[in-house]
Amino acid sequence: MRWTPGDRSNIEDLRGRSGVGMKAGGLGIGGLLVLLILSWATGVDFLSLLGGGGGGAAPTETVGTSGTVASSPEEEKLVDFVDAVMADSQMTWRDLLGDRYQPTRVRLFREAIPSACGFAQSASGPFYCPGDHYVYLDLGFFEELRRRFGASGDFAEAYVVAHELGHHVQSLLGIDSRMRQLQSRNPSETNELSVRLELQADCFAGVWAHATNKAGRSAQGRVELEAGDLEEGLRAAAAIGDDRIQRMSTGHVFPDKFTHGTSDQRVTWLRRGFENGTPDACQTFQ
Ligand SMILES: [Zn+2]
Repeated sequence: MRWTPGDRSNIEDLRGRSGVGMKAGGLGIGGLLVLLILSWATGVDFLSLLGGGGGGAAPTETVGTSGTVASSPEEEKLVDFVDAVMADSQMTWRDLLGDRYQPTRVRLFREAIPSACGFAQSASGPFYCPGDHYVYLDLGFFEELRRRFGASGDFAEAYVVAHELGHHVQSLLGIDSRMRQLQSRNPSETNELSVRLELQADCFAGVWAHATNKAGRSAQGRVELEAGDLEEGLRAAAAIGDDRIQRMSTGHVFPDKFTHGTSDQRVTWLRRGFENGTPDACQTFQ
């Protein structure tokens, strides 16, 4: 991919204001247990990070809330990259949807952060929260993508961001709320319906990839696809299909537990969006 760093206006950098101690202020016995286990597992004394207690600074401010962040040049490049992908894909959706499109941002965090959708942890991967309309991302996920799922390359990472933005588009178009209505009317199809929502987000990521696949774009400061990029995205889609993830972790496949679709389905819909370049091609609910 070819891309140019921008002004980071598509990013809300909360890396220095998130972390394992985020929720310490309201820590119940369950939270305390989690910290004890974490301390045991990692050898780091998380309890001491809570502060001495009684009269001191509020515990929530003792860990990672300074707003400063220790980062490497590689990580800063990733921040620029995510910003560039978001900027380009948001411009693309504005072109496609006109006034129906409302811009959003990526909230970067580390380890854990509160959101309108609850307390988010890196372990659950990147996600979109319809409650506050933000995309949440811990940059460490890209490392996970490379190491655990063998999906490397900048377009593999861009696909992850574009998929989450696809959920934002679904929210703006009312697709997700219609899906939840369907789910409450047909509880037995809850899982099948959420798979369709996920596959549509894959297709929407492909719609953006289609727009980037034009020579001369990078000269205008836009993202431009290069040879081999789509294959990286397709490999990533195949790598993070539910059947593959389940097989890796349990050795078995349970179709009733699929929430993102199989590797084949994800590849198919990403490709369909890429080939057609219009959201009309993404009718996963029909
Ligand atoms: Zn998703």
